[in-house]
Amino acid sequence: MRLVLVGPPGAGKGTQAQFIASNFAIPKISTGDIFRGNVSEGTQLGLEAKKYMDAGDLVPDEVTIGMVRERLRDPDSAEGFLLDGFPRNVHQAEVLDGWLGEHSASLDVVLELVVDDDEVVRRLSGRRTCRRCGHVWHLDFDPPVRDGVCDRCGGELFQRDDDREETIRHRLEVYADQTSPLIGYYGDRGLLRGVDATGPVEDVTERAINALRRFE
Ligand code: AMP
Repeated sequence: MRLVLVGPPGAGKGTQAQFIASNFAIPKISTGDIFRGNVSEGTQLGLEAKKYMDAGDLVPDEVTIGMVRERLRDPDSAEGFLLDGFPRNVHQAEVLDGWLGEHSASLDVVLELVVDDDEVVRRLSGRRTCRRCGHVWHLDFDPPVRDGVCDRCGGELFQRDDDREETIRHRLEVYADQTSPLIGYYGDRGLLRGVDATGPVEDVTERAINALRRFE
């Protein structure tokens, strides 16, 4: 199955991507994770991407597209994949269609995780990430026992720059301007399926997997 996951920041794409990819035994390709990996390793790509990520802006297409192209050349994605965070604008979607077309392939389905803006701000502004092990806690939904300390490793918790309320509002604007046109792009091609992404994580996963089963 060749699947793209779309939805605003905070819709739970990363979490759901993990469960969906393992359920259908396809590799999960997350551009946000690849960028963050590069930032923590201090690579040139990471240095380039960080300033955009911290501001809640999209990393320029020249950087992002080359990186995804490389990843999709890996043999594990030849038969199927789940893309989480790519494409993020119509140009990236057209480029992706072009690559797949070179192999006479195409996307099977685009799954939209649907959640409103206020819920997104509530979810993201409560997130706290461990500096040491990277685990993500949530002040309301999954709070650590001691304020500011990771229960798993004792590391210090911090708020990612892109999880601050002003940045979240900006990321939502970027989503509305640049990413949401993908809904029409894929809707016109008959590829779009939407699922309600509110409520318990397991319920969202179940809805997502049910919506995708027929594309396996
Ligand atoms: P995410 O974890 O998917 O929310 O991505 C975190 C950040 O990485 C985004 O806010 C962007 O700055 C950057 N990013 C991820 N995917 C893309 C993409 N396809 N195009 C441009 N920037 C991206």
